Amino acid sequence: MSSNTTPQTDRTESRDQSDDSESALQTVVDQLSEVADEIDLDPNVVERLSHPNSVYEVTVPIERDDGSIEVFTGYRAQHDSVRGPYKGGLRYNPSITRDECVALSMAMTWKCAVMDIPFGGAKGGVQANPKELSEREHERLTRRFTHEIGDIIGPMTDIPAPDMGTDAQTMAWIMDAYSTNVGETKPGVVTGKPMSIGGSEGREGAPGRSVALIARKAAEHYDWSLDDTTIAVQGFGSVGAKAARLLDDWGADIVAVSDVKGVRYEPDGIDTMAVPSFEEEPEAVTDDADEVLAPEQLFELDVDMLVPAAIGNVITKQNVHDITADLIVEGANGPTTHAADAILEERDIPVLPDILANAGGVTVSYFEWLQDINRRAWSSERVNNELDQEMHAAWDDVRTEFEQWSVSWRDAAYIVALSRIGAAYDARGLWP
Ligand code: NAD
Repeated sequence: MSSNTTPQTDRTESRDQSDDSESALQTVVDQLSEVADEIDLDPNVVERLSHPNSVYEVTVPIERDDGSIEVFTGYRAQHDSVRGPYKGGLRYNPSITRDECVALSMAMTWKCAVMDIPFGGAKGGVQANPKELSEREHERLTRRFTHEIGDIIGPMTDIPAPDMGTDAQTMAWIMDAYSTNVGETKPGVVTGKPMSIGGSEGREGAPGRSVALIARKAAEHYDWSLDDTTIAVQGFGSVGAKAARLLDDWGADIVAVSDVKGVRYEPDGIDTMAVPSFEEEPEAVTDDADEVLAPEQLFELDVDMLVPAAIGNVITKQNVHDITADLIVEGANGPTTHAADAILEERDIPVLPDILANAGGVTVSYFEWLQDINRRAWSSERVNNELDQEMHAAWDDVRTEFEQWSVSWRDAAYIVALSRIGAAYDARGLWP
């Protein structure tokens, strides 16, 4: 069932040669080896981190509503567990691949380590289009997939969470199927659950909250007043809308927000509460807007801060030269390709990386897991206070490395993460 293989990536390829067809796996492995060189990380640790611990591929047969049987392919990549159980989302997406799961699992390892959360990285999913599944089919697929990976997940081994195409209900079915199989209720096997079965206050809003907190810290770092800062946000969903509304609340001028249909542009500042988020009304950001721009024009706007919070690989070698913002805060996972990142660095446009900025999601997932293990719920005030503390601590750690090594913010975050992981390997050693 399991296979351990090396990522198929030519690590000698230079940044200049890489183009925007680079895979997510190539980007993550390139970044690992680049930062490892910069900080002189023990090559033995780099070697171990270049390989996922395990990648599981399973077949998931389900009965469709019309009585036919369809077989789907599911994956779970477990990258590294030196600091604790594996943690990461499950995607239902027709184009998900094994390599994509490996890349995303590696990014989760770094994200947990930047936040000093005692988890390692995992990611998985099923090659299925959730829009083509009825609710009953979604449930059958989820329960059967849980059964197939039942031996390798668990509150102390690997804890899935919602991701693209999955939600709190999906997590509830996983929790129920897993608990039924093991004979006792185990809420800690997944996070992002409904509140009625051990979900946490504040989980939904956490990634957007952390993006806003890091944006505010970055503004302070560069001596900007938020009151005088103009911001454009790509994507007005769970992450983008929450981040935009908090920053609006804290005094910033959100002058543009976008969805797949276009950009709502109001140079004097948008009332972000009056614009429906994706959850409130899908793809309605530009409805009733006075000025609507094409989606790609968002990056060309003359703003102080740009927050890509929609999907991955949107800032590429092709459009990076159009960007005029002075600072980028990554809300989405992997919005900037490796090649574009290098150009932004050359152009002195700082990029606050996803593994720091949107890490509020996994941080509150950790809080949820703690609440489940202890069977004691926290108030939303406690969740938000502890999240703010964790984000500020991670910011301080990353800023220290940023200043000490004179590297990019992304490299500084990698340095924090890799130093922690390296220290754990050092202490534990290799056995048997
Ligand atoms: P979402 O589905 O709630 O919202 C996505 C938004 O992006 C929608 O407004 C959609 O219209 C817009 N969008 C999609 N494609 C676009 C395009 N090409 N151009 C402009 N807008 C586009 O998604 P979300 O949960 O907010 O996630 C956004 C990103 O943040 C993803 O990369 C996700 O992986 C990442 N992320 C999410 C979480 C979380 O817990 N929700 C945590 C960490 C990171």
